[in-house]
Amino acid sequence: MKRAPLIPCKKAFVMDKPMQVRAFAQDGPAARPELRIRRVDAIAVAVPLAKPLAMSGVTVADARNLLVRIEAADGTLGWGEAASAPTMTGDTLGGLLAAVREHLAPALIGQNVWMRPALCRALRARLVGNTGAHSAIEMALLDLCGRAAGLRLVDLVGGAMRTEVKPMWLLGNAALEDDIAEALAKTKQGFHGFKLKVGTKPLEAEIAATLALREKLGPAVPLSADANAGFTLAAARRYLDRTREADLQFLEQPLDPADLRGLATLARSCAVPIGADEGIHSLADIERQARRGLAGVSLKLIKLGGMSAALEAANLCERLGLSINVAAKIAETSIASAAAVHLACAVPSADWGVSLTHFYLAEDIVKAPLPLGEGAVTLPDGPGLGIEVDERAVAKFRVE
Ligand SMILES: [Mg+2]
Repeated sequence: MKRAPLIPCKKAFVMDKPMQVRAFAQDGPAARPELRIRRVDAIAVAVPLAKPLAMSGVTVADARNLLVRIEAADGTLGWGEAASAPTMTGDTLGGLLAAVREHLAPALIGQNVWMRPALCRALRARLVGNTGAHSAIEMALLDLCGRAAGLRLVDLVGGAMRTEVKPMWLLGNAALEDDIAEALAKTKQGFHGFKLKVGTKPLEAEIAATLALREKLGPAVPLSADANAGFTLAAARRYLDRTREADLQFLEQPLDPADLRGLATLARSCAVPIGADEGIHSLADIERQARRGLAGVSLKLIKLGGMSAALEAANLCERLGLSINVAAKIAETSIASAAAVHLACAVPSADWGVSLTHFYLAEDIVKAPLPLGEGAVTLPDGPGLGIEVDERAVAKFRVE
């Protein structure tokens, strides 16, 4: 009896499939051999700033940061960092250390680094919140994977949209003359744009300082202001009304993050775009504030829980039409500043500029701090974060 044509076709398909799979496995890229984590260290450091930076609610004189050092079975190292930020994430240095030592590090020992996304997800289920600690761990895993694979961190998270960023300089001196002198000196060094800390002095003095800075800087230099939630609605409206000639690029976090009604009123009545920083801890926060008239967001790794979440947030901002400022936290070293550069080079846009904080430290803890050349910081081209930690400097600034 003659067989129907369909049957041999079906048989051939079923029989050929295992051979095709074998052929692919032989010719295609080999799976990476497992790389197990053998040691995780949480290290507290206090690195002095070159001079204190005053902002509403807190003056930062030294950087009290968590470092995470992850060592793989073959000796490859990855480093991560998160600033303590009691008035931003609620993270204290002791809390960051305890989060890693007691909850996150034990779950990583013996795990395969190539399962990084699954590991980070499992860690988030094991310890909710604690976004600074999660960010430092993910950063160290990405650095480790990049070094083991010979790839830049940015290439592990989707690739580069740009290969350099032009950092802005933060101004937060006690006296206006010092802000002006510093702005002019930093302009000569090549800094691109300034953000003035406000909400710390009498309102009339801050209005005068903003106008004076614009006059000295000229019309072309981007100038923004950050109140760190230090204004009332009335003060914010008066400040924006009286500084119209300063042509501010944006005003960051003028009000208490919970005051969404105030945000909506301010956004409706003022021409200057309003940004959020302390008010953003999740993608849901971004959506909620965008509905109230928010125009842009400051993305910090410590607030969102790490690189993956920050990239998701950046894509959400693009969909919502929000501007983006990528920022390290005052004052993370070249470890987290390098991570911020990779983030700023990976996001669709960083139209509200980039803030890198290692420039404010009296000393750094890497062998070659990220340099400012021709007004820009270049995306490091070494594997992982692309920086080399100086373990002697880590020991020097270590505190417990
Ligand atoms: Mg801010």
